[in-house]
Amino acid sequence: PRDMNKNAEAQVYNRGNWALHDVNLTITEGMVGLLGPNGAGKSTLMRILSTLSTPTSGEAFINDVPLHKAEDIRRMIGYLPQQFQVYPQLTGAEFLDYVAAMKGISDKRHRKAEIDKLLEQLNLQDKGHKKIRTYSGGMKRRLGIAQALVGSPQVLIVDEPTAGLDPEERVRFRNLLTRFSLGRVVLLSTHIVADIESNCRQIAVLDQGRVRMSGELADLQALG
Ligand code: ADP
Ligand code: ADP
Repeated sequence: PRDMNKNAEAQVYNRGNWALHDVNLTITEGMVGLLGPNGAGKSTLMRILSTLSTPTSGEAFINDVPLHKAEDIRRMIGYLPQQFQVYPQLTGAEFLDYVAAMKGISDKRHRKAEIDKLLEQLNLQDKGHKKIRTYSGGMKRRLGIAQALVGSPQVLIVDEPTAGLDPEERVRFRNLLTRFSLGRVVLLSTHIVADIESNCRQIAVLDQGRVRMSGELADLQALG
């Protein structure tokens, strides 16, 4: 039921460079890895799925509904961009409140309950009322996940969240994402094979804008 489907997706940036070409992917519940080298088109695909970019041709669907027709898409899809901008002068809770308001959660008490829950789930409850500028790198990363989870989206899209982490931190962060993949799609992009091997059930390999391989990780491993 919770799946996203992309059909014959393409994205052409200026001067006719195809960032994506013939991308046709169906992804279903659980952790899904999007693997590919720099420039493969991962961010472009994720921006399209987050409705921040409109494809030059083709269409993306969520639960068989075209993204542009889906109701309340802001709350259905949570997105953590690669360059996540934090507002150092705000507290974590203030920032999340702003995000919740942007996502259309108009009731103040409803927002507060949601934010308290997220701060706790991401182990930020002690820091929620401190300014973001006092946060460590790991805390900012967890706040990034928290802002993407505002509104309990069915789909969580995270663009290279493990970049710059050491191997141990990467494992911890992947495990954190896995916790949030229960009952939803988590699409994780990376150029590191280990990131997908241990935590993703389904993967897609993107290279030069094309899907080179996709499917259940176990089936692909069986092929060698
Ligand atoms: P990845 O996330 O896998 O590194 P991107 O989606 O960022 O790949 O980039 C795919 C291709 O599209 C690259 O060749 C990149 O240089 C190009 N590209 C990305 N964004 C733009 C843009 N805004 N304008 C022009 N070209 C772009
Ligand atoms: P920092 O950069 O502040 O060290 P980390 O994310 O690396 O941030 O984690 C710091 C500490 O918090 C570690 O001891 C880690 O085990 C713990 N931690 C990290 N994420 C969580 C989480 N989601 N729930 C509980 N504890 C966590």
